[in-house]
Amino acid sequence: MKAKVIGGGFAGCEACYQLLKRGVDVTLVEMKPQKFSPAHHLDTLCEVVCSNSFKSEDLSTSSGLLKAEMRLLDSMILRIAEQSRVPAGNALAVNRSNFSEQVTAVLNDYPNFNRITAVETSLGTENYDFVIVATGPLTDEALIPAFRKLFGQNFLYFFDAVAPIVTAESIDFDSAFVASRYDKGDADYVNCPMDKNEYLDFYNNLVNAETVELKDFENNVFEGCMPIEVMAKRGLDTMRFGPLKPIGLKDARKNEKPYAVLQLRKENVEGTRYNLVGFQTNLKYGEQKRVFSMIPALRNAEFVRYGVMHRNTYINAPKLLNCCFQVKSNPKLFFAGQLTGVEGYMESTVSGLVAALQAFRLFSGLSPVQFGGDTVTGALCKHISTDFGEYVPMNSSFGILDPLCEHIKDKTKRKLAYTSRAIESMKKTVINI
Ligand SMILES: Cc1cc2nc3c(=O)[nH]c(=O)nc-3n(C[C@H](O)[C@H](O)[C@H](O)COP(=O)(O)OP(=O)(O)OC[C@H]3O[C@@H](n4cnc5c(N)ncnc54)[C@H](O)[C@@H]3O)c2cc1C
Repeated sequence: MKAKVIGGGFAGCEACYQLLKRGVDVTLVEMKPQKFSPAHHLDTLCEVVCSNSFKSEDLSTSSGLLKAEMRLLDSMILRIAEQSRVPAGNALAVNRSNFSEQVTAVLNDYPNFNRITAVETSLGTENYDFVIVATGPLTDEALIPAFRKLFGQNFLYFFDAVAPIVTAESIDFDSAFVASRYDKGDADYVNCPMDKNEYLDFYNNLVNAETVELKDFENNVFEGCMPIEVMAKRGLDTMRFGPLKPIGLKDARKNEKPYAVLQLRKENVEGTRYNLVGFQTNLKYGEQKRVFSMIPALRNAEFVRYGVMHRNTYINAPKLLNCCFQVKSNPKLFFAGQLTGVEGYMESTVSGLVAALQAFRLFSGLSPVQFGGDTVTGALCKHISTDFGEYVPMNSSFGILDPLCEHIKDKTKRKLAYTSRAIESMKKTVINI
């Protein structure tokens, strides 16, 4: 069996390993060191472009759970990260050059591995059984025309401007009401009202909160999409004429009109997650939690993901891919990594692992592996292939897992219940791989 992988980052290298160890002849096309993206600098493969932390290993966190699942799935990237770790408390942090060199060496050791240094411009599958595209959030522009030709203009995004997402169960419904503006259509929105004092307090904290600094190459991409903190700085009432407009929204339980109202919109069919409408933001994560939790209905909010605004090339995967990361219109083509709308080093890695595993199985005449929605791996497969409204990239989180059968009030116990259920589920799945 012959496969081509385009892009030697997290997803691409994990995909190569999963195929090589199964005896597939793999050609990897990586543009470094001929050409570097604005964030890549090393000649070696699988470069850690920013923070050297792969997040927590603690099993009461979703990142810890994802790592436990990846260990069961024999992830090479995770194993090498563990071998090149530097002390970082509960987090798995790596020595970045050592990590990248080790990944490169493992792949180079396989006699069935062939690395080509070139900027790929084509998505052609001639001469290969299948091709996996894993060129990442900074995919070189030379490949973009091929994406457009395959998918059309409307299915490709070049930056993320995502509002935070919270779990439905953490919304304080004593301080919220369900209604649509002027009672038009279905009452699809959860409305989070504020009185004047609450609004002023929120406003003052928002305009003084700390923001993330954009990289030089990101400065021009966000025209036409204003972060909420920038809008707030335009004037005390600007948000009340925009995303916090109270007009047409009345809490049937109360007499007075709200001074400002944040609307929350469903993020998934099940209604277990909601996004903060119009709250795309560049605030630091800790600041988002602090400031947005000042809105009374969000006082206990659990954030499934925080808002971001950064350069990020990704495709509208639910329209284009199935849950095996396979292109619906061309079964010989697979996509993996951040390009598919998973977000983060480990999430990109596991997507490369799944894409390679499923491609290998499908082209060996085997049935694809069914990952449960009770695992982070399965939930990410579901995320990239379930069409519901606007598609936003997603990292690992307990909020994307299938809900537990019983409601466990204690947060830590609830998280551990998610974890033990997921590990059991993944153990059963790997028996069949
Ligand atoms: C600036 C920045 C900072 C980030 N910081 C973090 C962070 O701190 N923590 C976190 O978890 N995630 C972070 N991410 C998100 C994400 O986890 C990483 O980008 C991750 O590396 C994605 O893995 P990937 O395999 O999809 O892509 P990459 O690891 O970027 O790999 C893609 C590879 O494809 C190559 N390539 C691109 N185009 C072509 C082409 N046409 N032909 C041949 N080769 C090509 C590139 O050179 C690269 O080696 C960050 C992303 C960016 C852009």
